Amino acid sequence: MDDAIYGTRNKRGDWSPSERIECAPLFALPPRPRALLAWLPHYFLPWNVIFALLAVAYWAWIIPDTETLRTLGWGWALRLYAVNAVATFLFYGAFELHLYVLRRQGRRFKYHPKFPSEQRSKAFWFERQNIDNILRTFLSGVTIWTAIEVIVLWAFANGYVPWLSFAQHPLYLAALALVVPIIHEFHFFCIHRLIHTPFLYRWVHSVHHNSVNPSPWSSLSMHPVEHLLYLSTAFYHLIIPSNPLIALYQLHFAAFGAIPGHVGFHKIEVGANGLIDSHAYEHYLHHKYFEVNYGAALIPLDKWFGTWHDGSAEGEARMQERYRRRKERIAARKAAQAAAGR
Ligand SMILES: [Zn+2]
Ligand SMILES: [Zn+2]
Repeated sequence: MDDAIYGTRNKRGDWSPSERIECAPLFALPPRPRALLAWLPHYFLPWNVIFALLAVAYWAWIIPDTETLRTLGWGWALRLYAVNAVATFLFYGAFELHLYVLRRQGRRFKYHPKFPSEQRSKAFWFERQNIDNILRTFLSGVTIWTAIEVIVLWAFANGYVPWLSFAQHPLYLAALALVVPIIHEFHFFCIHRLIHTPFLYRWVHSVHHNSVNPSPWSSLSMHPVEHLLYLSTAFYHLIIPSNPLIALYQLHFAAFGAIPGHVGFHKIEVGANGLIDSHAYEHYLHHKYFEVNYGAALIPLDKWFGTWHDGSAEGEARMQERYRRRKERIAARKAAQAAAGR
């Protein structure tokens, strides 16, 4: 597949799509019903359906019975860790193998001209992005993910929070399952803004941003504090009346769902002519410029807060203007402080 049909590669080798990124029409004002209908299949396919099916598979084959869940125990917690680790290895590894190890589509649709394995950096453990990212994923990422999973299941099993059944509340639970991606986006935007404050950025979030050229293993490469904040999205289901299966879907949405944003390729080639959109560009721009696109494009939160970059020249100009105004504010503050100290 020729990626020049969909975008351009500049002299430095960066590929960018020719179409600007659009926010989902879900919260468009005035409402755009036709656009909403056309967009709706993308809401489900392929990613949301994959994460929901993974939650169902866990519920059917992995999660122990309620009696076991009532008592916290190392046995079932460690078994869950093992399953989560294997699932992560297979799911993340599949993208890594296809795109970065075997390089099945070369650099076609790849935003950054280089592969992380071609660059060494002192920012990473052992100066290798992949080793650093993989260790962080399995050491603290999957551990904290499993701990949250255990706490949520234990709370439901003991009746500490309401456990609504699908038989009695089918419509409510179906609606709740539908808003899982919206809860995720809201939560992610809030904690992401929080960890971009200077202190937390320096000590916590900079670990994730070391991967300026993100690849699949960068998805869960975070400081443990960020893992905790990011994956605690499952705790919403201890506050709102819910069902453990939906809480699991919410957790999977964060744990497996980090992949599409970090895949580093705009489209993934499937077969001779198939293409799957990764929707990675808005988050790639976040890794490139740091202070734009704190969320994805489901809720237009970045638009509302003035941090949206749609990949166009206007988006770039808006960002530069924001940086310029901030520089001016800092300079004015410093001048005022100097004058007061005189
Ligand atoms: Zn990221
Ligand atoms: Zn960030």
